[in-house]
Amino acid sequence: MNENSKVNNTEVAVIKSTSPSNLITTGIEKLGGISAFIEKGDQVFIKINLSVPNGFPVNVNFDSLRDLIILCKNAGAKQIFIGSFPDNGVNTQSIANILGIQSYLENLGAELLFLEDQNNCPLIDHEIKDKIIKIPRVILESDKLIIFNQVSVDPLFKITLSLLNSCSLVPNRYQRIEKVIRSGKDYLLLDQFKQDLISNILDIYSIKKPDLVINDMFYFLEGAGPFVYRDSNLITTGLGIIGRDAVAVDLITLKLFGIDLLSSDILLEARNRKLGVTEASNITIIGDSIENINLKVRFSVYRLDDIKIKNTTIKAGRICSGCFKEAYHLLNYVNTHMTKDLKYIKKQYFLTGENPPEPESLDHIIVFGECAINSTKNRAFRHVRTSSNRNYMEDVKGKIRKDYKSQKTPKIKEKINKNIIEIPGCPPNLYESIFSIQKYYGKSKTPNLSFYNNLIKTYYEQNSKPKVKPGD
Ligand code: SF4
Repeated sequence: MNENSKVNNTEVAVIKSTSPSNLITTGIEKLGGISAFIEKGDQVFIKINLSVPNGFPVNVNFDSLRDLIILCKNAGAKQIFIGSFPDNGVNTQSIANILGIQSYLENLGAELLFLEDQNNCPLIDHEIKDKIIKIPRVILESDKLIIFNQVSVDPLFKITLSLLNSCSLVPNRYQRIEKVIRSGKDYLLLDQFKQDLISNILDIYSIKKPDLVINDMFYFLEGAGPFVYRDSNLITTGLGIIGRDAVAVDLITLKLFGIDLLSSDILLEARNRKLGVTEASNITIIGDSIENINLKVRFSVYRLDDIKIKNTTIKAGRICSGCFKEAYHLLNYVNTHMTKDLKYIKKQYFLTGENPPEPESLDHIIVFGECAINSTKNRAFRHVRTSSNRNYMEDVKGKIRKDYKSQKTPKIKEKINKNIIEIPGCPPNLYESIFSIQKYYGKSKTPNLSFYNNLIKTYYEQNSKPKVKPGD
Protein backbone atom coordinates (compact mmCIF):
# COMPACT_ATOMS: atom_id res chain seq x y z
CA MET A 1 0.00 0.00 0.00
CA ASN A 2 1.13 3.57 -0.70
CA GLU A 3 1.87 5.92 2.14
CA ASN A 4 -1.32 7.41 3.65
CA SER A 5 -3.39 5.02 1.56
CA LYS A 6 -6.56 3.38 2.75
CA VAL A 7 -6.89 1.55 -0.57
CA ASN A 8 -4.83 -1.44 -1.56
CA ASN A 9 -2.74 -1.00 -4.72
CA THR A 10 -4.01 -4.32 -6.00
CA GLU A 11 -7.67 -3.30 -6.10
CA VAL A 12 -9.02 -2.09 -9.41
CA ALA A 13 -12.64 -1.16 -10.00
CA VAL A 14 -14.13 -1.93 -13.40
CA ILE A 15 -17.39 -0.06 -13.82
CA LYS A 16 -19.90 -0.11 -16.62
CA SER A 17 -22.48 2.63 -16.50
CA THR A 18 -25.10 4.32 -18.59
CA SER A 19 -23.86 7.79 -17.61
CA PRO A 20 -20.30 9.19 -17.40
CA SER A 21 -21.05 10.81 -14.02
CA ASN A 22 -22.20 7.59 -12.39
CA LEU A 23 -19.06 5.95 -13.68
CA ILE A 24 -16.71 8.06 -11.57
CA THR A 25 -18.85 8.17 -8.43
CA THR A 26 -19.73 4.46 -8.52
CA GLY A 27 -16.12 3.43 -9.17
CA ILE A 28 -14.77 5.51 -6.31
CA GLU A 29 -17.58 4.31 -4.03
CA LYS A 30 -16.65 0.69 -4.79
CA LEU A 31 -13.08 1.42 -3.72
CA GLY A 32 -14.20 2.75 -0.36
CA GLY A 33 -15.35 6.26 -1.24
CA ILE A 34 -13.41 9.41 -1.98
CA SER A 35 -12.26 9.78 1.63
CA ALA A 36 -10.13 6.67 1.06
CA PHE A 37 -8.09 8.84 -1.30
CA ILE A 38 -8.56 12.48 -0.27
CA GLU A 39 -8.25 13.83 3.26
CA LYS A 40 -9.58 17.01 4.77
CA GLY A 41 -7.35 19.97 4.01
CA ASP A 42 -5.54 18.25 1.09
CA GLN A 43 -4.20 20.19 -1.84
CA VAL A 44 -5.16 18.08 -4.86
CA PHE A 45 -3.68 18.22 -8.35
CA ILE A 46 -5.82 16.60 -11.05
CA LYS A 47 -3.85 15.79 -14.17
CA ILE A 48 -6.15 15.76 -17.19
CA ASN A 49 -5.76 15.47 -20.97
CA LEU A 50 -5.32 18.95 -22.39
CA SER A 51 -3.19 18.41 -25.44
CA VAL A 52 -4.57 20.52 -28.32
CA PRO A 53 -7.52 22.90 -28.80
CA ASN A 54 -9.90 20.11 -29.79
CA GLY A 55 -13.14 19.18 -28.14
CA PHE A 56 -13.92 16.06 -26.19
CA PRO A 57 -12.76 13.25 -26.31
CA VAL A 58 -9.35 14.60 -27.30
CA ASN A 59 -9.38 16.48 -24.03
CA VAL A 60 -11.07 15.68 -20.77
CA ASN A 61 -14.79 15.00 -20.39
CA PHE A 62 -15.99 18.16 -18.58
CA ASP A 63 -18.98 16.45 -16.96
CA SER A 64 -16.91 13.68 -15.43
CA LEU A 65 -14.28 16.19 -14.31
CA ARG A 66 -16.98 18.22 -12.60
CA ASP A 67 -18.12 15.15 -10.64
CA LEU A 68 -14.58 14.36 -9.60
CA ILE A 69 -14.06 17.93 -8.37
CA ILE A 70 -17.30 17.80 -6.39
CA LEU A 71 -16.22 14.51 -4.79
CA CYS A 72 -12.86 16.01 -3.79
CA LYS A 73 -14.57 19.07 -2.33
CA ASN A 74 -16.95 16.85 -0.39
CA ALA A 75 -13.94 15.05 1.06
CA GLY A 76 -12.69 18.40 2.36
CA ALA A 77 -9.97 19.19 -0.20
CA LYS A 78 -8.61 22.66 0.60
CA GLN A 79 -7.47 23.44 -2.93
CA ILE A 80 -8.00 21.69 -6.25
CA PHE A 81 -5.66 22.44 -9.12
CA ILE A 82 -6.19 21.15 -12.64
CA GLY A 83 -3.58 21.10 -15.38
CA SER A 84 -1.37 19.46 -17.96
CA PHE A 85 1.40 20.50 -20.34
CA PRO A 86 -0.20 20.62 -23.82
CA ASP A 87 1.41 19.24 -26.97
CA ASN A 88 4.60 20.76 -28.31
CA GLY A 89 4.01 24.30 -29.55
CA VAL A 90 0.60 24.76 -27.92
CA ASN A 91 -0.08 26.50 -24.64
CA THR A 92 -2.78 26.14 -22.02
CA GLN A 93 -4.07 29.67 -22.53
CA SER A 94 -4.96 28.95 -26.17
CA ILE A 95 -6.80 25.78 -25.26
CA ALA A 96 -8.54 27.48 -22.34
CA ASN A 97 -9.69 30.33 -24.61
CA ILE A 98 -11.18 27.94 -27.13
CA LEU A 99 -12.74 25.47 -24.69
CA GLY A 100 -13.81 27.96 -21.99
CA ILE A 101 -12.45 25.62 -19.34
CA GLN A 102 -10.99 28.27 -17.02
CA SER A 103 -14.28 29.88 -15.98
CA TYR A 104 -15.96 26.46 -15.92
CA LEU A 105 -13.47 25.26 -13.31
CA GLU A 106 -13.59 28.52 -11.34
CA ASN A 107 -17.35 28.12 -10.96
CA LEU A 108 -16.75 24.66 -9.53
CA GLY A 109 -14.21 25.98 -7.02
CA ALA A 110 -11.15 24.53 -8.79
CA GLU A 111 -8.31 26.36 -10.53
CA LEU A 112 -6.84 25.75 -13.96
CA LEU A 113 -3.08 26.13 -13.83
CA PHE A 114 -1.07 27.53 -16.73
CA LEU A 115 1.91 25.29 -16.14
CA GLU A 116 4.08 26.90 -18.85
CA ASP A 117 3.98 30.19 -16.96
CA GLN A 118 6.99 29.65 -14.80
CA ASN A 119 6.52 32.89 -12.90
CA ASN A 120 3.37 31.45 -11.34
CA CYS A 121 4.27 27.77 -11.64
CA PRO A 122 8.01 27.49 -11.00
CA LEU A 123 9.78 24.27 -11.90
CA ILE A 124 12.06 22.36 -9.63
CA ASP A 125 14.78 19.89 -10.54
CA HIS A 126 14.27 16.22 -10.05
CA GLU A 127 17.26 13.99 -10.60
CA ILE A 128 16.49 10.60 -12.02
CA LYS A 129 19.17 8.20 -13.18
CA ASP A 130 21.76 10.44 -14.81
CA LYS A 131 19.43 13.22 -15.92
CA ILE A 132 17.52 16.17 -14.53
CA ILE A 133 13.79 16.48 -15.22
CA LYS A 134 12.05 19.68 -14.20
CA ILE A 135 8.56 19.42 -12.80
CA PRO A 136 6.21 22.13 -11.49
CA ARG A 137 6.65 22.62 -7.76
CA VAL A 138 2.88 22.78 -7.33
CA ILE A 139 2.56 19.16 -8.52
CA LEU A 140 5.30 17.86 -6.28
CA GLU A 141 3.96 19.76 -3.30
CA SER A 142 0.34 18.75 -3.74
CA ASP A 143 -0.83 16.31 -1.11
CA LYS A 144 -2.63 14.17 -3.66
CA LEU A 145 -2.17 13.56 -7.37
CA ILE A 146 -5.03 12.22 -9.47
CA ILE A 147 -4.49 11.04 -13.04
CA PHE A 148 -7.79 11.49 -14.82
CA ASN A 149 -7.14 9.94 -18.19
CA GLN A 150 -9.31 9.83 -21.30
CA VAL A 151 -8.71 6.56 -23.14
CA SER A 152 -8.79 6.29 -26.95
CA VAL A 153 -6.72 4.50 -29.58
CA ASP A 154 -3.06 5.40 -29.84
CA PRO A 155 -0.71 4.75 -32.79
CA LEU A 156 2.20 3.53 -30.64
CA PHE A 157 0.64 1.98 -27.54
CA LYS A 158 -2.71 0.77 -28.93
CA ILE A 159 -4.58 2.85 -26.35
CA THR A 160 -3.77 6.02 -24.44
CA LEU A 161 -2.76 4.51 -21.12
CA SER A 162 -2.64 6.50 -17.90
CA LEU A 163 1.15 6.05 -17.89
CA LEU A 164 1.28 8.09 -21.11
CA ASN A 165 -0.89 10.74 -19.51
CA SER A 166 1.56 11.15 -16.64
CA CYS A 167 4.25 12.11 -19.17
CA SER A 168 2.73 15.57 -19.66
CA LEU A 169 3.25 16.38 -15.97
CA VAL A 170 6.54 17.88 -17.16
CA PRO A 171 7.36 20.46 -19.88
CA ASN A 172 7.59 19.25 -23.43
CA ARG A 173 11.36 19.50 -23.63
CA TYR A 174 11.65 16.78 -20.94
CA GLN A 175 9.23 14.56 -22.83
CA ARG A 176 11.19 14.81 -26.09
CA ILE A 177 13.40 11.94 -27.23
CA GLU A 178 16.82 12.80 -28.65
CA LYS A 179 18.34 10.31 -31.06
CA VAL A 180 21.14 8.49 -29.25
CA ILE A 181 22.81 5.72 -31.26
CA ARG A 182 24.41 3.02 -29.11
CA SER A 183 27.55 1.41 -30.45
CA GLY A 184 26.79 -1.79 -32.35
CA LYS A 185 23.04 -1.30 -32.09
CA ASP A 186 20.76 -0.67 -35.04
CA TYR A 187 18.60 2.30 -34.01
CA LEU A 188 15.81 1.53 -36.45
CA LEU A 189 15.78 -2.25 -36.17
CA LEU A 190 15.56 -2.13 -32.38
CA ASP A 191 13.16 0.81 -32.48
CA GLN A 192 15.44 2.55 -30.02
CA PHE A 193 13.20 5.62 -30.19
CA LYS A 194 10.33 3.70 -28.62
CA GLN A 195 12.57 2.08 -26.03
CA ASP A 196 13.90 5.50 -25.02
CA LEU A 197 10.37 6.91 -25.05
CA ILE A 198 9.10 4.17 -22.73
CA SER A 199 12.07 4.65 -20.43
CA ASN A 200 11.41 8.39 -20.27
CA ILE A 201 7.67 7.94 -19.62
CA LEU A 202 8.41 5.61 -16.74
CA ASP A 203 11.07 7.97 -15.36
CA ILE A 204 8.51 10.77 -15.29
CA TYR A 205 5.83 8.53 -13.80
CA SER A 206 8.14 7.50 -10.98
CA ILE A 207 8.82 11.12 -9.93
CA LYS A 208 5.47 11.28 -8.19
CA LYS A 209 3.17 8.31 -8.28
CA PRO A 210 -0.53 9.13 -8.31
CA ASP A 211 -2.92 8.47 -5.43
CA LEU A 212 -5.86 7.81 -7.70
CA VAL A 213 -5.95 6.78 -11.37
CA ILE A 214 -9.04 6.90 -13.55
CA ASN A 215 -9.05 5.49 -17.07
CA ASP A 216 -12.22 7.05 -18.43
CA MET A 217 -13.38 5.30 -21.57
CA PHE A 218 -17.07 5.87 -21.28
CA TYR A 219 -16.58 7.42 -24.71
CA PHE A 220 -13.80 6.00 -26.83
CA LEU A 221 -12.34 7.22 -30.11
CA GLU A 222 -11.54 4.24 -32.36
CA GLY A 223 -9.95 4.06 -35.80
CA ALA A 224 -7.80 7.15 -36.19
CA GLY A 225 -7.19 8.61 -32.74
CA PRO A 226 -6.52 9.94 -30.23
CA PHE A 227 -7.24 13.21 -32.07
CA VAL A 228 -10.41 13.67 -34.11
CA TYR A 229 -9.72 12.78 -37.74
CA ARG A 230 -11.77 11.79 -40.73
CA ASP A 231 -11.29 8.08 -39.96
CA SER A 232 -12.06 8.47 -36.25
CA ASN A 233 -15.22 7.02 -34.83
CA LEU A 234 -16.66 7.77 -31.40
CA ILE A 235 -18.13 4.77 -29.62
CA THR A 236 -19.67 4.41 -26.19
CA THR A 237 -18.23 1.62 -24.09
CA GLY A 238 -19.71 2.95 -20.82
CA LEU A 239 -16.57 1.76 -19.03
CA GLY A 240 -14.26 3.20 -16.42
CA ILE A 241 -11.27 1.55 -14.75
CA ILE A 242 -10.23 3.04 -11.44
CA GLY A 243 -7.56 2.26 -8.88
CA ARG A 244 -4.53 3.56 -7.07
CA ASP A 245 -1.77 1.90 -9.06
CA ALA A 246 -1.45 3.19 -12.65
CA VAL A 247 0.33 0.03 -13.81
CA ALA A 248 -2.45 -2.21 -12.46
CA VAL A 249 -5.17 0.08 -13.86
CA ASP A 250 -3.50 0.08 -17.30
CA LEU A 251 -3.00 -3.67 -17.20
CA ILE A 252 -6.69 -4.27 -16.54
CA THR A 253 -7.68 -1.66 -19.14
CA LEU A 254 -5.61 -3.47 -21.78
CA LYS A 255 -7.08 -6.80 -20.69
CA LEU A 256 -10.54 -5.50 -21.56
CA PHE A 257 -9.30 -5.22 -25.14
CA GLY A 258 -7.83 -8.71 -25.04
CA ILE A 259 -4.26 -7.38 -24.82
CA ASP A 260 -2.04 -9.09 -22.26
CA LEU A 261 1.08 -7.97 -20.47
CA LEU A 262 3.41 -9.67 -22.95
CA SER A 263 1.95 -7.62 -25.81
CA SER A 264 2.53 -4.31 -24.04
CA ASP A 265 6.15 -3.15 -24.17
CA ILE A 266 5.53 -0.33 -21.71
CA LEU A 267 3.98 -2.62 -19.07
CA LEU A 268 6.77 -5.15 -19.56
CA GLU A 269 9.30 -2.43 -18.84
CA ALA A 270 7.23 -1.30 -15.84
CA ARG A 271 7.45 -4.90 -14.60
CA ASN A 272 11.24 -4.93 -15.10
CA ARG A 273 11.46 -1.81 -13.02
CA LYS A 274 9.01 -3.08 -10.40
CA LEU A 275 6.94 0.06 -10.79
CA GLY A 276 3.58 -1.45 -9.98
CA VAL A 277 1.41 -4.52 -9.98
CA THR A 278 1.94 -6.42 -13.23
CA GLU A 279 0.53 -9.81 -12.30
CA ALA A 280 -3.15 -9.88 -13.21
CA SER A 281 -3.65 -12.75 -10.73
CA ASN A 282 -2.55 -10.40 -7.91
CA ILE A 283 -5.20 -7.82 -8.78
CA THR A 284 -8.61 -7.91 -7.16
CA ILE A 285 -11.27 -6.73 -9.57
CA ILE A 286 -14.13 -4.88 -7.95
CA GLY A 287 -17.35 -4.19 -9.83
CA ASP A 288 -18.00 -5.79 -13.20
CA SER A 289 -16.25 -9.00 -14.13
CA ILE A 290 -13.77 -8.46 -16.97
CA GLU A 291 -14.65 -11.87 -18.43
CA ASN A 292 -18.11 -10.50 -19.23
CA ILE A 293 -16.69 -7.56 -21.14
CA ASN A 294 -15.55 -8.30 -24.63
CA LEU A 295 -14.49 -5.06 -26.25
CA LYS A 296 -14.13 -5.05 -30.00
CA VAL A 297 -12.73 -1.79 -31.33
CA ARG A 298 -10.92 -0.63 -34.44
CA PHE A 299 -7.32 0.16 -33.48
CA SER A 300 -5.09 2.59 -35.34
CA VAL A 301 -3.31 1.39 -38.46
CA TYR A 302 -0.03 -0.51 -38.08
CA ARG A 303 1.25 0.57 -41.46
CA LEU A 304 1.29 4.11 -42.79
CA ASP A 305 0.18 3.02 -46.27
CA ASP A 306 -3.04 1.73 -44.70
CA ILE A 307 -4.06 5.38 -44.34
CA LYS A 308 -5.93 5.85 -47.58
CA ILE A 309 -5.64 9.40 -48.92
CA LYS A 310 -6.94 10.62 -52.27
CA ASN A 311 -4.23 11.09 -54.94
CA THR A 312 -1.52 10.22 -52.42
CA THR A 313 0.88 7.28 -52.47
CA ILE A 314 2.66 6.52 -49.21
CA LYS A 315 6.01 4.74 -49.29
CA ALA A 316 7.83 3.92 -46.08
CA GLY A 317 11.31 2.48 -45.68
CA ARG A 318 12.81 1.32 -42.41
CA ILE A 319 11.20 3.51 -39.85
CA CYS A 320 11.19 3.94 -36.07
CA SER A 321 8.29 4.94 -33.86
CA GLY A 322 9.38 8.60 -33.93
CA CYS A 323 8.61 9.16 -37.61
CA PHE A 324 5.77 6.65 -37.55
CA LYS A 325 3.85 8.63 -34.94
CA GLU A 326 4.43 12.06 -36.50
CA ALA A 327 3.71 10.77 -40.02
CA TYR A 328 0.57 9.06 -38.73
CA HIS A 329 -0.72 12.38 -37.41
CA LEU A 330 0.38 14.37 -40.45
CA LEU A 331 -1.22 11.92 -42.90
CA ASN A 332 -4.44 11.82 -40.92
CA TYR A 333 -4.40 15.61 -40.80
CA VAL A 334 -3.96 15.75 -44.59
CA ASN A 335 -6.73 13.18 -45.03
CA THR A 336 -9.06 15.20 -42.81
CA HIS A 337 -8.31 18.78 -43.76
CA MET A 338 -7.21 18.64 -47.41
CA THR A 339 -10.16 16.87 -49.01
CA LYS A 340 -10.85 19.67 -51.48
CA ASP A 341 -7.16 20.50 -51.94
CA LEU A 342 -6.42 16.94 -53.03
CA LYS A 343 -8.71 17.46 -56.04
CA TYR A 344 -6.29 20.13 -57.28
CA ILE A 345 -3.19 18.15 -56.37
CA LYS A 346 -3.52 15.36 -58.88
CA LYS A 347 -0.72 13.23 -57.54
CA GLN A 348 1.62 13.34 -54.58
CA TYR A 349 3.99 10.93 -52.89
CA PHE A 350 4.88 10.70 -49.24
CA LEU A 351 8.25 9.10 -48.52
CA THR A 352 9.48 8.39 -45.03
CA GLY A 353 11.95 6.17 -43.20
CA GLU A 354 15.31 4.94 -44.41
CA ASN A 355 15.47 3.95 -48.09
CA PRO A 356 11.80 4.29 -48.97
CA PRO A 357 10.78 2.80 -52.36
CA GLU A 358 11.20 5.02 -55.41
CA PRO A 359 8.14 7.03 -56.44
CA GLU A 360 6.72 6.06 -59.84
CA SER A 361 6.73 9.61 -61.16
CA LEU A 362 8.32 12.96 -60.44
CA ASP A 363 5.18 14.69 -59.21
CA HIS A 364 4.98 16.31 -55.83
CA ILE A 365 7.12 14.31 -53.43
CA ILE A 366 7.09 14.88 -49.68
CA VAL A 367 10.27 13.53 -48.07
CA PHE A 368 9.58 13.26 -44.37
CA GLY A 369 12.30 13.00 -41.71
CA GLU A 370 16.12 12.92 -41.63
CA CYS A 371 16.35 9.21 -42.50
CA ALA A 372 14.28 9.67 -45.65
CA ILE A 373 16.13 12.85 -46.66
CA ASN A 374 19.63 11.43 -46.14
CA SER A 375 18.98 8.03 -47.69
CA THR A 376 17.44 9.44 -50.88
CA LYS A 377 20.03 12.13 -51.66
CA ASN A 378 21.23 10.26 -54.76
CA ARG A 379 17.96 8.77 -55.84
CA ALA A 380 16.68 9.07 -59.41
CA PHE A 381 13.64 11.09 -58.35
CA ARG A 382 15.93 13.90 -57.18
CA HIS A 383 16.60 14.81 -60.81
CA VAL A 384 14.52 15.54 -63.86
CA ARG A 385 16.10 14.23 -67.05
CA THR A 386 15.36 15.94 -70.32
CA SER A 387 16.56 14.83 -73.72
CA SER A 388 18.11 17.58 -75.87
CA ASN A 389 18.28 15.73 -79.22
CA ARG A 390 16.26 18.27 -81.16
CA ASN A 391 18.40 18.04 -84.29
CA TYR A 392 15.95 18.97 -87.01
CA MET A 393 18.11 17.67 -89.88
CA GLU A 394 18.31 14.27 -88.21
CA ASP A 395 14.55 14.34 -87.63
CA VAL A 396 13.87 15.09 -91.31
CA LYS A 397 16.25 12.35 -92.50
CA GLY A 398 14.57 9.95 -90.15
CA LYS A 399 11.16 10.80 -91.58
CA ILE A 400 12.25 10.46 -95.25
CA ARG A 401 14.15 7.22 -94.83
CA LYS A 402 12.48 4.86 -92.48
CA ASP A 403 15.61 2.68 -92.21
CA TYR A 404 17.78 5.71 -91.37
CA LYS A 405 19.43 5.50 -88.00
CA SER A 406 20.89 8.61 -86.48
CA GLN A 407 24.56 8.42 -85.55
CA LYS A 408 24.14 11.02 -82.89
CA THR A 409 23.40 9.96 -79.34
CA PRO A 410 20.80 12.21 -77.75
CA LYS A 411 22.08 14.61 -75.15
CA ILE A 412 20.51 14.15 -71.76
CA LYS A 413 20.18 17.17 -69.55
CA GLU A 414 19.67 16.73 -65.83
CA LYS A 415 18.02 19.27 -63.61
CA ILE A 416 17.25 19.23 -59.93
CA ASN A 417 13.67 18.09 -59.31
CA LYS A 418 12.04 21.01 -57.60
CA ASN A 419 8.80 19.19 -56.92
CA ILE A 420 10.12 17.97 -53.62
CA ILE A 421 9.17 19.07 -50.11
CA GLU A 422 11.83 18.07 -47.63
CA ILE A 423 10.59 18.03 -44.06
CA PRO A 424 13.60 17.76 -41.75
CA GLY A 425 13.59 16.54 -38.16
CA CYS A 426 14.19 13.37 -36.21
CA PRO A 427 11.27 13.12 -36.07
CA PRO A 428 9.79 16.24 -37.76
CA ASN A 429 7.43 18.50 -35.87
CA LEU A 430 3.79 18.07 -36.90
CA TYR A 431 2.89 21.76 -37.13
CA GLU A 432 6.08 22.71 -38.97
CA SER A 433 5.32 19.90 -41.41
CA ILE A 434 1.83 21.24 -42.08
CA PHE A 435 3.22 24.75 -42.64
CA SER A 436 5.87 23.42 -45.07
CA ILE A 437 3.29 21.56 -47.15
CA GLN A 438 1.01 24.57 -47.35
CA LYS A 439 3.91 26.87 -48.28
CA TYR A 440 5.01 24.53 -51.07
CA TYR A 441 1.59 24.22 -52.70
CA GLY A 442 0.49 27.81 -52.10
CA LYS A 443 -2.94 29.19 -51.27
CA SER A 444 -4.55 28.62 -54.65
CA LYS A 445 -4.02 24.85 -54.53
CA THR A 446 -4.76 24.44 -50.84
CA PRO A 447 -7.81 26.53 -49.85
CA ASN A 448 -8.69 24.06 -47.08
CA LEU A 449 -5.21 23.71 -45.71
CA SER A 450 -4.62 27.48 -45.82
CA PHE A 451 -7.71 28.00 -43.71
CA TYR A 452 -6.62 25.41 -41.12
CA ASN A 453 -3.07 26.76 -41.12
CA ASN A 454 -4.33 30.20 -40.23
CA LEU A 455 -6.35 28.64 -37.45
CA ILE A 456 -3.33 26.76 -36.12
CA LYS A 457 -1.23 29.91 -36.22
CA THR A 458 -3.63 31.61 -33.83
CA TYR A 459 -2.56 29.23 -31.10
CA TYR A 460 0.73 27.78 -32.29
CA GLU A 461 2.68 31.01 -32.75
CA GLN A 462 1.79 32.27 -29.29
CA ASN A 463 4.06 29.62 -27.95
CA SER A 464 7.06 30.70 -30.00
CA LYS A 465 7.91 33.01 -27.12
CA PRO A 466 7.66 30.68 -24.13
CA LYS A 467 7.79 32.21 -20.69
CA VAL A 468 11.00 30.49 -19.75
CA LYS A 469 13.25 31.78 -17.06
CA PRO A 470 16.98 31.94 -17.90
CA GLY A 471 18.61 28.64 -17.05
CA ASP A 472 15.43 26.55 -17.44
S1 SF4 B 1 14.43 10.41 -38.86
FE1 SF4 B 1 12.58 9.38 -38.21
S2 SF4 B 1 12.87 7.21 -38.74
FE2 SF4 B 1 14.87 8.20 -38.71
S3 SF4 B 1 15.67 7.88 -36.65
FE3 SF4 B 1 14.69 9.90 -36.69
S4 SF4 B 1 12.63 9.54 -35.99
FE4 SF4 B 1 13.46 7.52 -36.58
